[in-house]
Parts: sequence; C-alpha cells; structure tokens
Amino acid sequence: MEKLLDFRNSDLRTKLFVVLAITGCISNIAGFIANAVIFGFTAQTIMCAVCAVIVICASLYGFFSERTYVATFIILLILGFVEFPMLYIAYGESTMVYMLVAEIGIVTFMKSGHRVIMGTAVFLVDIGAFIVHITCPQFNVASDNMGMDTLMSFIISFFAILVAVAMVMLQYERQTRELSRMSEELTQAVNTDPLTEIRNRRYLMQYLENQTAQMGDEKCYAVLIDLDLFKSVNDTYGHVFGDKVLRQFADMVKKNLGENDLIARFGGEEFMILFGTDNEEEIITTMNRISKEYAQFSEKEKGKEFTFSAGAALYGKNSSITDIFTTADKRLYKAKAAGRNMIVMD
Ligand code: GH3
Ligand code: MG
Ligand code: MG
Repeated sequence: MEKLLDFRNSDLRTKLFVVLAITGCISNIAGFIANAVIFGFTAQTIMCAVCAVIVICASLYGFFSERTYVATFIILLILGFVEFPMLYIAYGESTMVYMLVAEIGIVTFMKSGHRVIMGTAVFLVDIGAFIVHITCPQFNVASDNMGMDTLMSFIISFFAILVAVAMVMLQYERQTRELSRMSEELTQAVNTDPLTEIRNRRYLMQYLENQTAQMGDEKCYAVLIDLDLFKSVNDTYGHVFGDKVLRQFADMVKKNLGENDLIARFGGEEFMILFGTDNEEEIITTMNRISKEYAQFSEKEKGKEFTFSAGAALYGKNSSITDIFTTADKRLYKAKAAGRNMIVMD
C-alpha cells in the first residue's frame, strides 16, 4: 500500500494497475447507477452490481496486498469475459466501444503470455456476443436514446484510453531519460581511474587510437611518468599515504596542463601525459613545474623531496600505440638507469 501511494516512483505495471482500478471502479459504479435509474432492478442492473463489487474488491485487494497483477487479471477477466459482452447483448451498439476498451486493456496491462491467450479468448467471446445480439433480439433492452447512450460509452472509454496511453508514454519517457543518464554514468565510470579520478589506460588507448587516425601533419609528444622509489614511500609512510600521493600527483599534473593535453593513470604509480604539441621547450617547462610542485608537496608533508622519472615519445598520424608505449617505456628506463629524477626525450 505504501509503495502504491508513492505513485511517481512505482513501476509501470503498478501505475497501470492504479489507472485500471480507478477507471474500473468509477465506470462500474456509474454503470450500475445509470442502469438502476433508467431500467430499475433488471437482470442487467444486478449483473452490473455484481461486476462492480468484484472490481472494487479486486482493486482493494491489489492496493492492500500489493499483488497488483493478480488484481489486474481479475478485473480484466470480469470486464472482458462477463460484463462487456453481456452489456453488448443487452444494449447493442452503444456499448460496443467497451469491448474494444477491454481488448486495449488486455494488450496494455497484461504480461506478454497472458496478453495473447486472454486477448484471443476475449475476442472470441465478443464475436459470440455479436452473434447472440443478432440472433436473439429478445435479449435486447436498449433504450430509445441510442445516440445519448453511445456518447456516454464513448466519453468513459475515451478517458480510460487517454489516461492509460498518457501513463505509458510518461513512463516510457522517464525510463528513456533514466537509461541515458545511467549510460553516461557507466561510460564515465569505465573510463575513469577510481583512486585519482583522472582518465584510465582504457580511455587513453581509445583516445590515442582516434587521435592518430584523425591527425594531420602535426606531431605530438606522449610522456610516460613513473614515480621514483614509490615502493619505499609505501613502506615508509604506509599505503594510505601512498594513495594520497598518487591523488595529489594527478591533481598537480592536471592543474599544469593545457586544454589540449590529457593525463591518464597508466597503471600503479605510472601516468601518461599526451601533450597536444611537439614543442619540447614548452613540455620541459611544464614537466619541471610539476617536478617542483611534487617536491614541494612531499617536503611539506614528510620533509623529503620526492621525484619522478619520465620518457617521451613523438607520434603522428597513424603511429602505432604499441610503438608509442614501447618508445616511451624504453626512454623511461633510460632515465631510471641514469639515476632517476629526469625526463628522456630521445
Ligand atoms: P622505481 O623508482 O624504480 O620506479 O622504484 P619503485 O619503488 O617506484 O618501483 P616498483 O615498481 O618496485 O614499485 C612500484 C610501487 O608502486 C609498488 C606498489 O606497491 C606501488 N603502487 C602501485 N599502485 C599503487 C596504489 O594504487 N597505491 C599505492 N599506495 N601504491 C601503489
Ligand atoms: Mg612503476
Ligand atoms: Mg616507480
């Protein structure tokens, strides 16, 4: 019941049940009153009363038990198999639209397997009602005012269909929006490193693949960075501090890059910068600035100057990603072998 009251957030089937229950109860009560007033307590009026009681009970059962589909099933069973065909036999064309509404209800509210079986069965019952109506005129008790009766049936059916279709469309639009939001979040998540919140290797590779395919004659530098003696940072100050260093380092690099550059976590304590330029002087200036900030940060935190080493690789149109990575890695190894805390460009 509580779930049902939270109508906006309930699922489509629950919403449809609410629509069916409300329209079902209102139209059945209205039908019973109209029959009782116009015709008195005839067999049709009693049938309308019995159907109204069943629809109301099923609706209450759905609301309170939250077994909304069972309730939906009972309501459509009563309307589709009993009430609407009987009304047609008794009143003829003015109530024909109800049989159509029952079929639309079955298609809209029922689960796929039930939809086919019940839809076909109700269709056959409706055909039976048509035949009985034609062949047994003694059951026909239609009033003289056929136009008014048809208008009433049309208005009730029209609003029932309108509300149901509007609910389905609203829910569809809501789910489409939700899906596209989730898809954006998912794309963001698979391309982001959770610790440093910068792009990850997967994104970097995709980016490089697109960039190298679309480049003109210009060249760019990829710089692979490896933090020096990071194992001893972890061993000396703990893994939590090591994580903090990685996050701070990523922030420092990000802050120093231009809008055409990209930083990604390559893995562990390795990062790769893709500079949108081949201007070596500009790149060395930026790397020196990052190096200085990194040393200042560690000096302030632990009274020691941390360093990093880097290897650069020049790439251009159609360069292979493996070649870029291998070249940068070899040069990084050179920097390590030469005593660390430096960048090797060639
Ligand atoms: P070198 O100067 O030769 O690169 O020495 P190093 O100690 O940095 O190199 P090594 O590859 O031996 O160690 C890398 C260390 O980085 C080991 C590993 O525990 C640490 N590391 C990798 N990923 C993470 C991480 O996500 N958090 C923390 N805290 N440490 C990490
Ligand atoms: Mg390493
Ligand atoms: Mg290292």
